[in-house]
Amino acid sequence: MAKPRAAISDPLEISGAIVPPGERERFEIPVARLPTGTSLSLPVVAVNGRYPGPTVWLSAAVHGDEVNGVEIIGQVLDRLKPKSMRGAVIATPIVNVFGFNAQSRYLPDRRDLNRSFPGSAKGSLAGRLAHLFMQEVVLRCNYGIDLHTGSNHRTNLPQIRGNLADPVTRQLAEAFAAPVIMQSGAIDGSLRRAATSAGIPTLVYEAGEPLRFDESAIQLGANGILRVMAALGMRRTSPRKKKAHSAVVESTKWVRAKASGILRLTTKLGSQVEAKQPLGVVADVFGDDAKEIISPVAGLVIGHTNNPLVQQGEAVVHIAEMMSDDHADEVAALLAEE
Ligand SMILES: [Zn+2]
Repeated sequence: MAKPRAAISDPLEISGAIVPPGERERFEIPVARLPTGTSLSLPVVAVNGRYPGPTVWLSAAVHGDEVNGVEIIGQVLDRLKPKSMRGAVIATPIVNVFGFNAQSRYLPDRRDLNRSFPGSAKGSLAGRLAHLFMQEVVLRCNYGIDLHTGSNHRTNLPQIRGNLADPVTRQLAEAFAAPVIMQSGAIDGSLRRAATSAGIPTLVYEAGEPLRFDESAIQLGANGILRVMAALGMRRTSPRKKKAHSAVVESTKWVRAKASGILRLTTKLGSQVEAKQPLGVVADVFGDDAKEIISPVAGLVIGHTNNPLVQQGEAVVHIAEMMSDDHADEVAALLAEE
């Protein structure tokens, strides 16, 4: 007796484009016209797997200067095989097209797109873009992964943020296998908040700094997305998951500069630190009058500024508390390998 044939997925319809099962299409979603009359649009690649399964969106550059995610999405797309894939991927590597062109986090009206969701059709420029992205992309999906970096000269240790109280989100966060998973409530107005309010489990991946490619953060991000897709049954193979598990962080502290001056950090991303350990010094222009930056807690360095010019009160090092010793060792091993 012949084996019953596997069901084939339906064509994927998005913003006027129709992607047949087993194919990928590149197209654009019109956003707005610039004052010059030039039309601006969201570049999209939709990959419709041959077999039925969930639909996942991948987004980057919601903050226009956060470019690691743009590269991550490119690398993931290179590795997808629609002929054998289950479900669909809608990839939007540049969501804040205005900010990306200007190499800026914001929109031309200085609004933050990631504080403007879910937006509205008649709102501000940012609100309209948020609304368009919700309608055309997010609400067609079952899951989402939004890619970010630190802001304002700060770099982040690769980390997944999500609502771990939701078992599906937690399972996907663990499948991603970033060094750190951070339990964090979604910020009001963020894409993650709007999507999760609509019942769509969403992960945020934070890694590296604005306007810089970070090779290991990019590789970890691309492999993490492919691992999440395997966990969702969309791919049969998955980049090797390290035997190490992610360290789960529930509480973090920013260490601030006590004085303005020139910062010399003596710690780096992924370092384990003790309570009261010096993390660097802030001194005047001649290196005099040095004041130490002291870690208030024991933990793991998950972010820091790369700008040596600091103002008093400025957040310079981000420490994750908790870390049992073995977890920290595993984080260090993960960073060394990937
Ligand atoms: Zn961001």
